[in-house]
Amino acid sequence: MLSIHPEHIIVQSVQLPLFAEKELQVAVLRTDLLHPVVSGNKWFKLQPYLEKARASGKKRIVTFGGAWSNHIVATAAAAQAFGFSSAGIIRGEAAATPSATLMQAHNFGMELFFSSRSDYAAKKLPFTLQSTDLLIPEGGFGTQGAAGAGTMASLIANKQAQLVCAVGTGTMMAGLINAGFDVTGILVLKDDAHQMEQQVRGLLNNTATQLSIQYDFHWGGYAKWRPELITAMNSWYQATGIPSDFVYTGKLFYAVQQLAKNNFFRPGSSIICIHSGGLQGNISLPKGTLIF
Ligand SMILES: *Cc1c(COP(=O)(O)O)cnc(C)c1O
Repeated sequence: MLSIHPEHIIVQSVQLPLFAEKELQVAVLRTDLLHPVVSGNKWFKLQPYLEKARASGKKRIVTFGGAWSNHIVATAAAAQAFGFSSAGIIRGEAAATPSATLMQAHNFGMELFFSSRSDYAAKKLPFTLQSTDLLIPEGGFGTQGAAGAGTMASLIANKQAQLVCAVGTGTMMAGLINAGFDVTGILVLKDDAHQMEQQVRGLLNNTATQLSIQYDFHWGGYAKWRPELITAMNSWYQATGIPSDFVYTGKLFYAVQQLAKNNFFRPGSSIICIHSGGLQGNISLPKGTLIF
């Protein structure tokens, strides 16, 4: 049985000399406390898709992801918890030793199909989709995913708070904006053409909204890192007790501190960083890299 604990999610206040100096009240919405492996935002994004699957009599959930994908393992867990079977189309050939993520997904009953990088890029399915299958886009991207992520906003009592979240597909950012919050997004992948703004705007209820996306905190690209990022994640953990992952939330917490240093936030502001989970992916790092 899957033990998902929404009641464990808290808004944790963070005291750092930097934030005091800049007169900022900073807190973290800990959706990582939902479950050690099932990622916070992915669980929330999946809910509307699962409701739709149930309402339309679907039997199997089909989706895409990489070998360390938070979305793959969350989908496998959620599908099993709601009584669906699941299939994961995995980017690249099967490795000699499967990743911890794929083993977890397999243990949650997901059938895994490995797809060459070119087939994967074309989103080619290795089987014919049945009428009883529900296909969920990679990362839970889409208006339904945004609606699901938007329900995370109900966990935040201070509606005036300025939110800061990591951005992959932009689905969570759009959902939080649709829920009425002022959100700054930290893009974790390289996007020199700044196309993410259009992608997020496509998911907004009010498309005239001003968007605030930071494009300079990707560390070389999606899932790329340098030792300075690991050092920053370890320091953040020592100062706050909050663990982070190197793909999303590590880059988020680093960015929030840099933005505070650069006076990006108005003095007196209440800032809430969204810890969106993803800690399971840290297993892919060399042993001993992180202190938590
Ligand atoms: C997928 C993911 C994100 C990015 O969410 P999007 O809605 O795709 O922008 C952020 N944090 C974690 C931990 C994730 O797994």
